[in-house]
Amino acid sequence: METLILAVVIAVVAVAAAAGLVVTGRRRKELPAPKAQPQITKPADQRTVEPTAEPQVGEDAAVGAPEERRTLEDVTLPTDTETAAAAEAARTAEAAEVAEAEAAPELEVPEPTAGRLVRLRSRLARSQNTLGKGLLSLLSRDRLDEDTWEEIEELLLTADVGVAPTQELVERLRTRVKVLGTRTPDELRGLLREELVALIDPSLDRSLHVARHDEETPARPAVLLVVGVNGVGKTTTSGKLARVLVADGHTVVLGAADTFRAAAADQLQTWGERVGARTVRGPEAGDPASVAFDAVKEGIAEGADTVLVDTAGRLHTKTGLMDELGKVKRVVEKHGPVDEVLLVLDATTGQNGLVQAKVFAEVVDITGIVLTKLDGTAKGGIVVSVQRQLGVPVKLIGLGEGADDLAPFEPGAFVDALLG
Ligand code: GDP
Repeated sequence: METLILAVVIAVVAVAAAAGLVVTGRRRKELPAPKAQPQITKPADQRTVEPTAEPQVGEDAAVGAPEERRTLEDVTLPTDTETAAAAEAARTAEAAEVAEAEAAPELEVPEPTAGRLVRLRSRLARSQNTLGKGLLSLLSRDRLDEDTWEEIEELLLTADVGVAPTQELVERLRTRVKVLGTRTPDELRGLLREELVALIDPSLDRSLHVARHDEETPARPAVLLVVGVNGVGKTTTSGKLARVLVADGHTVVLGAADTFRAAAADQLQTWGERVGARTVRGPEAGDPASVAFDAVKEGIAEGADTVLVDTAGRLHTKTGLMDELGKVKRVVEKHGPVDEVLLVLDATTGQNGLVQAKVFAEVVDITGIVLTKLDGTAKGGIVVSVQRQLGVPVKLIGLGEGADDLAPFEPGAFVDALLG
């Protein structure tokens, strides 16, 4: 008899514990703050990471938000009504999840990237007219005296072309115009186009290294770090770049390693959801390196082509930046080498942008530059000066706030837009 009573008690306790866990899972936010050791969980749709320890390959770096650990002593036996209510709540929540999944918005199909710059050229023409048209009209003057050449020089300097490239260009133009003798507008345009394209250097490799490393086992996605100071358009660029990659047929995982700006992870996740790219994120103010590590791990698990990691860009001290970015890169490289480090620069910041660029270049090996906000400035010459200063090509340019307003950089199309 005693055995029977004991068995009944154990069965009731087991049912109660199971009901309690269901409620814990569904109503985590309503529960009081945890008292005991946090329980490790890995929610399927939102990964969070351990903020302190440096993860290792093969290690599970993702841990969930602290959650209760319930002991048998904590469990008060529910009544039949409570158990039924818990089951009903579970059914309702499941039904809500199914409805949510069914109501999920259709994925967007981003615009193809080929020829984007040509399509967006009016954005450039609007802001860069002063440079292109100004140069053409000065070179068309009847007499090209010293004052005119000085005006040409000033125009180039005002557009942020930089001192050395400006002098080089003026020198070459002077020689070629002299050889040309009489100048028709078409000849001048052709000559100027040629020289400006040469200044931007069409021989630089502007391709993005985004192909999965299929030669490795397991295949490892290409890893891109997106770096830059806050406000330059880094998160927006990461989102737009995910679209560029999806448009070109790649599968993408996003890593929200900008854990210092509260809205950045949400912003990135929204960009990702629009094109079906999963975003790996961590707790606010958590360790960016762990998020980056987990993003690559997720990319490997999904067999993704590319993992795009948005990093934080606090620049108050160079040492802080160096420590943080250095750590992100080091930790990610436990999976394998980083394929691209893209520096995002705001074209409207001129010289200030160049100073930032140099600081970043000292911390990480930049492989490409993304110049944003070229739609809002007449200083397109920064393309030339930043490439010269860093010895790294501009690979993408931002031409507006729209989702597909990021274009692969093409020197010829860029110069054509400048010249109108
Ligand atoms: P972050 O702090 O560097 O991550 O900056 P955000 O990505 O949040 O961008 C800051 C602002 O710049 C946002 O309002 C963006 O819409 C805007 N922005 C980004 N790229 C461009 C661009 O190419 N053109 C224009 N006009 N605005 C841009």
